[in-house]
Formats: sequence, C-alpha cells, structure tokens
Amino acid sequence: MNSKKLDSYRVLVLNASYEYLNIAKWQRAIKLIFSDKAKVLEEGDRTINSQNLKMFVPSVIRMNYYVKKPEERVPLSRSNIFARDFYCCQYCGKKFDQDSLTIDHIIPRSAGGKDSWDNVVSACKECNSKKANNFLNDIGMKVLKKPKKPKYAPKLNAYFREEWAKYLNIELEGDRKGNKTK
Ligand SMILES: [Zn+2]
Repeated sequence: MNSKKLDSYRVLVLNASYEYLNIAKWQRAIKLIFSDKAKVLEEGDRTINSQNLKMFVPSVIRMNYYVKKPEERVPLSRSNIFARDFYCCQYCGKKFDQDSLTIDHIIPRSAGGKDSWDNVVSACKECNSKKANNFLNDIGMKVLKKPKKPKYAPKLNAYFREEWAKYLNIELEGDRKGNKTK
C-alpha cells in the first residue's frame, strides 16, 4: 500500500447541500464512504492497493446527510496569510517556504496601515526590504493580486487540487493551476 505517499493527501468533503464542509484525511474519507455516510463525487488519481482493498482514493466526497457547521473563523495569522497567497511572494510571484516569507503591509503601518486581510500580503525578504515603509506608487512596485479576506479556510490551499475548483466555485488563477496531485 502506498499510504506514505498519501500522507499529505486530503479529500474535499462537501455537505449534503454541496457546500464546502471541510477537508479530511483519506482514511477518514474512506471510512465515511464505507459506513454509507458519504458518497464519492470525484476520484483522485491515487490508488490504494492492499490485499483487501483496491480502489481509487476519493478526491471529493459528499455527505449523505446535512451537517450543521458553525461559521468558520479565519484568524489573520501569519500561516493563514501565507496559505491564502499560496506561499508566493505577492511582489515577485516566486514561491517560498514559510520560513522565507514575511508579512508586508501594503499601506505601511507607519502610515496608519491596518492589520487586515486587504492590507497584508506575503512577501519574500528581498521584496519586503525593497518595499519597506514606502507606498507602492512611490517606488514603482505593484502587488500581483489585490489581497482579500479568504472565502475558505486557507489551510485548504495547502492541499488544493485543480479538480476541487468547480466544487468550491473557485476560478483557477495562475498560482492554483498546476497544483495537481503530485
Ligand atoms: Zn519577492
């Protein structure tokens, strides 16, 4: 069984209403399927191949009954900001690991810029020190994408696969394309 390769694989779980519910580890998703609590909407491209079980691991499943879900609060944390931005510097567009990213305030804090989803972006150290306490217009820099409050818990982006987009009403943008199952 190639379960090791599946360690970072997550299954998108939709509510009975087709709304986003959460993401689950593949083992949990398969339990939901076999206990008849959910159905497979889309298979992924990975297989489980053990003596007792040969199947495609689901990519998207839907609950057979409606699960009441409290509204998800998404705290404005470093890790959520980085995940929202797909770990890409929003100035040069390059991808970095978390440790090499910083938070930049578009309107500098020194000028009253707030800690808010629409004023913070992920930036690499180099771009951040170039940007420093300046206004973008003053130094000819541009942010690649206007930052917004995320619609979904950004942790989802760490596992995002193209085939999820249509279920989440996400328009595929450059940074999400190619983020297929590896
Ligand atoms: Zn950069």
